[in-house]
Amino acid sequence: MKKIHSNKDYLKRLLEILEAPELSLAVGGRAERSPVSRPVRGKQEKQPDPKKICSAALAQLRELFAMGKQGLKEGVKIPFAQICRKHKFDENETLILAVFVAMEISGRDMDGNPFRGHDNVLKIIFLLLDRPKIEILPYFLSSGRLKKSGLFLHERYGREEGLRSVMNLKESVIELLLKGGKPTKKKKRAAKPARPRQIAEQLNLSVIAQETAKRQLSTVAFQHMERAGHPAKANIAAPRLNTLLLGPTGCGKTYITRRLAEILGAPIAFCDATQYTETGYVGSNVEEMLIKLAKAAGDNLKTAEYGIIFIDEIDKIRAQNVGESHHSERDVSGLSVQQELLKMLEGETLTYEKFRGDGCGTYQFNVKNVLFIAAGAFQGLGEIINDRIKTKKQIGFKDQASAARVEIDQANLLHQAKPQDIIKYGFIPELIGRFPNIIALDRLTKADFLSILGNPRTSLLEHYTTFFAQNGIELEIPPAFLEEMADKAATRDLGARGLNAAVENFFSELMYELLDRKSGTCEQKVNIMDCLHPGRLKELLA
Ligand code: ADP
Repeated sequence: MKKIHSNKDYLKRLLEILEAPELSLAVGGRAERSPVSRPVRGKQEKQPDPKKICSAALAQLRELFAMGKQGLKEGVKIPFAQICRKHKFDENETLILAVFVAMEISGRDMDGNPFRGHDNVLKIIFLLLDRPKIEILPYFLSSGRLKKSGLFLHERYGREEGLRSVMNLKESVIELLLKGGKPTKKKKRAAKPARPRQIAEQLNLSVIAQETAKRQLSTVAFQHMERAGHPAKANIAAPRLNTLLLGPTGCGKTYITRRLAEILGAPIAFCDATQYTETGYVGSNVEEMLIKLAKAAGDNLKTAEYGIIFIDEIDKIRAQNVGESHHSERDVSGLSVQQELLKMLEGETLTYEKFRGDGCGTYQFNVKNVLFIAAGAFQGLGEIINDRIKTKKQIGFKDQASAARVEIDQANLLHQAKPQDIIKYGFIPELIGRFPNIIALDRLTKADFLSILGNPRTSLLEHYTTFFAQNGIELEIPPAFLEEMADKAATRDLGARGLNAAVENFFSELMYELLDRKSGTCEQKVNIMDCLHPGRLKELLA
């Protein structure tokens, strides 16, 4: 192999190998037969053998990855190799990163060819290594090594979250890779946070509907990042950015916040309000949220202090009849958790104790710049808002008949929520005062469910079609199936969560039925609506 003269040279070489047209043909394109399938025999014209092409490419890649000092011009540093060494990446991990890097520098996005998406990346890796049974999940989801690298900030991985984390990993090294060295301090400081519109555009890629919420949250996120870049002067009051998200189950409150944190590259701790109790009682102490956040930031307190704490199910700590004396036991505990939360939100610097492998320590955590996003379905809040609006409108009418005809936009009630409504719902005014942004999300509609199913970034169908394709079965998904699933989700009251559950149920049944047919040996095309017993199909679609 020719001597490498610069980092650019190295990356060019990587790209040449991974983007060679014959390799693209061998691993991509629906028209091409799978490289693991047998080559056509008895033909005069010699067909390129995908297996051979893949092994040749792999040999070249191995040579490049194994290149020592002698292959490099003196003094040249290759950050890609340094990162792989530093994190002790094995061959699979190195390949995953190499493919992502190639995608990035060749300017293709996840939807472009030939690397059409993560599943294609996996396909390339499977084929290059000729080991179709590589257990890929550990690399994306739970590899101790990748996690230890500190680049995986999220604690709770879903499949998608794992992949996103790989993307974060890619993004965090990409600048370094392209530059051929550590980014200078000056450049780092000059990096401007994305503008609200840019943040919203990124959210648009994977969050369906919720236009108002995306817009409002993008502005909150922008201000939060600005703050991280230019900390406020001590004598100038900065507005609070804490946000309350209202919306029915499964409309995307958690999901949109998770996406937001990824876009910002901010650490995030997901907490559930129902887990917490008053200090001294059985249950978690609210300050444990800070420990979670610090952990999400890889124990880097400076980063954690500009992180996000997401408090789900905040509506479950409502206290009925705030201000009245006869609380039920449940309400009292709700009230006390609210007070605990308030203490945390009001405090500037909190001290917490933390047990670590190396002993117990006391830490000072400045919560002033932490962004708190609390979310809940707030069932019954609509009625409170309705009553307020009705009363206000009725007061404006002189005659009884017009007062009775007051029309209220029921569908948009949550969008009209005011702090006083939430206080009436069962929250102490001081706590609500700490949440100046109240953002409502809409109930997802059938059309939204169809969009979720149709978008490869949000649809589980992409995952299942790839899974079956890897097992030699090509799925045909008729539009009627999408309609049925969207209808089913629209009649359940669980939002996109109900949609995902319906799709998962259907496909787990399909796996049971189809996978013991001649798996992996030949390609079959099956219409998914024809595979199950009619009675069972009816049940699953009902
Ligand atoms: P909740 O509002 O109850 O917090 P989640 O955010 O947990 O709901 O949503 C559950 C799942 O539904 C998400 O993981 C995501 O896959 C899907 N989902 C929800 N809302 C949307 C949306 N607006 N666009 C795309 N997918 C969504």
